[in-house]
Amino acid sequence: IKTLDISKIREEFPVLHQEVNGKPLIYFDNAATNQKPKVVINALADYYKGYNANIHRGIHTLAEKATKAFEETRHYLKGFLNAKEVEEIIFTKGTSEGINLVASSFGRKFLNEGDEIVISGLEHHSNIVPWQLIAEERGAIIKAINVLDNGTLDMDHYKSLLSNKTKIVAVNHASNSLGTINPVKEIIQEAHNVGAKVLIDGAQATAHLNIDVQDLDCDFYAISAHKCYGPTGTGALYGKRELLEAMPPYQGGGEMIKEVSFEKTTYNDVPYKFEAGTPNIADVIAFKKALEFIDETGKESIAVHEEELLQYARQKFLTIPGLRIVGDSDHKVSVLSFLIEGIHPFDIGQMLDAGGIAVRTGHHCTQPLMDHFGIEGTVRASFSVYNTKEEIDRMTEALQRVVKFLKP
Ligand code: PMP
Repeated sequence: IKTLDISKIREEFPVLHQEVNGKPLIYFDNAATNQKPKVVINALADYYKGYNANIHRGIHTLAEKATKAFEETRHYLKGFLNAKEVEEIIFTKGTSEGINLVASSFGRKFLNEGDEIVISGLEHHSNIVPWQLIAEERGAIIKAINVLDNGTLDMDHYKSLLSNKTKIVAVNHASNSLGTINPVKEIIQEAHNVGAKVLIDGAQATAHLNIDVQDLDCDFYAISAHKCYGPTGTGALYGKRELLEAMPPYQGGGEMIKEVSFEKTTYNDVPYKFEAGTPNIADVIAFKKALEFIDETGKESIAVHEEELLQYARQKFLTIPGLRIVGDSDHKVSVLSFLIEGIHPFDIGQMLDAGGIAVRTGHHCTQPLMDHFGIEGTVRASFSVYNTKEEIDRMTEALQRVVKFLKP
């Protein structure tokens, strides 16, 4: 595993080189969205300056160039996720749309009155609400796996929820609020044993973990480009071909059809059946540059660096009087969620921002998880490849000041 030259990597990220509130920016809100390297930013400009055209339908040179670049991202994603076939990759707006697509389309076809959907107490609202919408429509029932105090899933409880009524299990690979890495391979295996399908929400895994959908044997895997150095507003959904073929279209429009008449319309083959309308062409093209950035930097090297940051931050932050890390376990991506006794997370976030430090405060779109811990929210620091121990030192000093000024 190669050691990374972090200052060289930082050079690739223009946004990092600025002052915020008179202090050098420290960006620790990577779980919300991480920053973009020049290769990604340049790819967007290159497309609009050089070959902006609508894809798939055009026969002129620019349209062919745009189509080729767009489809190259699909091919790259096939390798990145280790899908068996390129047709198993569908472009979406992001993880939320991927989950909505599956909930709506799989749900309409395969969920009936009394069927069960298993999610977990660790889920983002994006992996809760789409299931509630379809459950209400189809008369299905949602069950949620309990979370233990260390932020991991209660696997015995999970097994007790499974039965021949379970039609789909939907859980995240890694939690955005706590960082917990879930034992997804085991979860998938157990679900398959009762004949249920599995969707994995990979939003927080893509930038940090190796993803192999064939090895996992998941039925669906949803990701967002913006969580892995790519643009906002695009992402991908992997689905097993036979399932995608059995599922009805999600949205209607151009591109997703074969023949249209007022009497009857026939649908295009997968993946196009699920890609109605002009997609986010530039962003899909730039998405490939983000994935290449990850591969060229080296996923394992990134993971080693982030694990070092995580351990260093944990040790440093725990020196702050009254600081408590919420749902902390050994096996997690680089996220620390914490509280300081007697100080509201929002006030901590504001004071950090005054020192140029960007963190997230609040429920992180996981209200049921916050309810489970009996709290309203946390302060969340999440690290990425370009972060450093010096930045963690600066945040630790800032937290000392927070305690000094705000502790009652
Ligand atoms: N799931 C998880 C675990 C997430 O962290 C996020 C983004 N915070 C989402 C789903 C939704 O992703 P997006 O907003 O990109 O659709």
